Amino acid sequence: MKLRIKFLYMVLAVIFMTGTADMTHARRAKKEPQAKYVFYLIGDGMGINEVTGTELYNQATGNGPERINFMHFPVRTFVTTYSASALVTDSAAGGTALSTGTKTYNGAIGVDADRNPVSTIAEWAKDSGAGVGVATSVGINHATPSAFYAHVNDRNSYDAIARQLIASDVDFAAGAGFLTERRTGLDAVFYEQEARGEGIKVFYGTEDFENVSTSYDRVICLGGRNIGELPYAVDRKEGDTALKDFVSTGISYLYGRYPEEGFFFMIEGGKIDYAGHNDDAVACFEEVNDLAEAMDVVLAFYNEHPDETLIVVTADHETGGLMLGAGEYSMSPEMLAGQTMSENELTAKFRQKFMPAPPQQQRRGQRGNGPGFGQQQPQWTPPTWEEVKGFLQENLGLWDKVPVDRRTEAKLMETYQSTFGSKDGGNDVRSLYAVNTRLISDAVIYLNAKAGYQWSHGSHSGSPVGLYVNGVRAREFNSCTDNTDIPRLIARIAGYETNN
Ligand SMILES: [Zn+2]
Repeated sequence: MKLRIKFLYMVLAVIFMTGTADMTHARRAKKEPQAKYVFYLIGDGMGINEVTGTELYNQATGNGPERINFMHFPVRTFVTTYSASALVTDSAAGGTALSTGTKTYNGAIGVDADRNPVSTIAEWAKDSGAGVGVATSVGINHATPSAFYAHVNDRNSYDAIARQLIASDVDFAAGAGFLTERRTGLDAVFYEQEARGEGIKVFYGTEDFENVSTSYDRVICLGGRNIGELPYAVDRKEGDTALKDFVSTGISYLYGRYPEEGFFFMIEGGKIDYAGHNDDAVACFEEVNDLAEAMDVVLAFYNEHPDETLIVVTADHETGGLMLGAGEYSMSPEMLAGQTMSENELTAKFRQKFMPAPPQQQRRGQRGNGPGFGQQQPQWTPPTWEEVKGFLQENLGLWDKVPVDRRTEAKLMETYQSTFGSKDGGNDVRSLYAVNTRLISDAVIYLNAKAGYQWSHGSHSGSPVGLYVNGVRAREFNSCTDNTDIPRLIARIAGYETNN
């Protein structure tokens, strides 16, 4: 008897609980708004210190807004980024986690750890009838953007990724250009032609973007002809394409074509990571500013559709292990004001000024009449230390606005000697995306440290990254603890059917 009563209670309890759960669900479904327009911004390599560091730099130099817009969104939390194969992720596994909600191995694009294709949030959006846009400041088939439309085992399979983009349902794709593989011998023009063959309209550069019309079925916007990445924001010249140009063109196009269905738009600031690999704070911070400028365009749209728009900003990982404060209980971000171009651009300028081609381009083993050797410019003499010092002073503010202690000067001089005294010519330092003159690289790292920005290394770190959210049901993102939580939550709020 006792047992039967207990059982009865249990049955009643279950009925009651299911009932309330159903009711809550029904109430929620009725009351909760859905995001019709979704913006998903990814700062590649943009750790929390990169964003905070940018604000400090802006406040001290006046080179950017005192407040980075997304850093002051109503929701600011952080997520872990590790991959299935390592505690430190690369952009492929990081991008795949952010696009599919699935952990995978470093190098994987849109496939799981067993190399099975996994569907992405861009595909979920498309299946739900929404328009889809993907934009990046680096190659259109580089790791992060491709994680949204491609499924390949290796991020370097640029050929397969380009073909998958062309065959995909992405309505609006924008990036610097197509990256190619030496193996295939095919150039970027080949893929642009392939795209046109599939009925996709291809546009080059900001001026040309004015010709983008919603009457075109699919659109690809490229930064220019034959470029793999947009110039660093800090090096941008008039007429150069900026990420925000992709964003404004993409919004007009997607909104024009999908006014009823809404759209999903992924936007990547790809060169924050490149600058982090170089340990170049000024280039890095100006890239964060550039992403914030793209965000201004997004926010203008948001202000017109505040009840239907969701904006999510995060990063795939941090790059460089950037620390704020370099051993002393202070920082001097104003010291960075003396650097007016990226380390890459500064290296190019340095080489042009001090290293006329022949001595540097000789290769070991080259003899007598090999090209270059015979034409060694007889008038070329290496610059003096004073000349080189003047260059660093002029372009980085060293000695001038930034004190250089004797030990550092001696070290820089040593590098100067090995740069101009070596038989092969030059003394270069290779990072993931650049080969720079060691003297310039050393000087930039020194300047960064004096300003209080200390880089730990030139690769990614396992630090958690920020998650900044604004708009429809933004507060729900406080529940996210790992990067894989993000795409599923966006899908729920946008009403996309997920199938994994
Ligand atoms: Zn990277």
